[in-house]
Amino acid sequence: MREIDVKLMTEKVGDLCVKANTDLGEDVLQAFDRAMEKEDSPLGIEILKELKENARIAKAENVPICQDTGFAVVFVELGQDVHLAGGNLNEAIQEGVRQGYRDGYLRKSICHPFTRANTGDNTPAVIHTELVPGDTIKITVAPKGGGSENMSRVTMLTPSDGVEGIKRFVVQRVKESGSNPCPPTIVGVAIGGTLEQAALLAKKSLLRPLGSKNSDPELNPLESEILTEINKLGIGPQGLGGRTTSLAVHIIMMPCHIASFPLAVNIQCHVQRHKETII
Ligand code: SF4
Repeated sequence: MREIDVKLMTEKVGDLCVKANTDLGEDVLQAFDRAMEKEDSPLGIEILKELKENARIAKAENVPICQDTGFAVVFVELGQDVHLAGGNLNEAIQEGVRQGYRDGYLRKSICHPFTRANTGDNTPAVIHTELVPGDTIKITVAPKGGGSENMSRVTMLTPSDGVEGIKRFVVQRVKESGSNPCPPTIVGVAIGGTLEQAALLAKKSLLRPLGSKNSDPELNPLESEILTEINKLGIGPQGLGGRTTSLAVHIIMMPCHIASFPLAVNIQCHVQRHKETII
């Protein structure tokens, strides 16, 4: 049994909040480059260059990539041979978010749903904890912007809708979203499971590095096919036209009930932020 003080979690979560919001991943920058090679709209190419430049400035000057610094979504993979000491895990994570958003001068975006009164410190964070084998803790902080989260949906298809039903729903979702999620987007899709599991897995699918292949050979061609259809919509970078509406489609699939066919689509804007650490 390895003992880990929860204060270390607070420190790490705080750092990850700042890093995620200021340092766009190399995989996203490379995806911009690949998109520029394929894009034929001059304005689209110009926007992709601006997005890269924006990311460069954010990193160099340690300022947020976007004014919307997001809802702090924290994924924890907790080794079952870890003994947490010194306090409460959830409170330690909330304190990390509080400190990270305060010290990093990140916008606080969380409010009461009715009064819209801001909680003032970007808490509560949404924390997903999973018990895994081992004696380490993996923490991933993935701040999610409101514009792209608003365009996400869960639906319960019928089994007879089949793969064609999935394609139709995902492409239609991107079409109806238009410029709202600040394209180019990454489209996270979860097929199967239950309603709540599909929603969570669609978001988790966004953590996969851009440009990587799906480990399920059945899903690789489906991802390419849906991406091709999406990029025929002509929405383009920032919705101003072009071939680059989405950079990738990521799919996770789970078995489902014989009477059900859940489908979740989580749309992620080009500020594809997530940082992780293992302690
Ligand atoms: S959707 Fe993304 S890029 Fe657009 S405002 Fe929100 S965080 Fe920023």
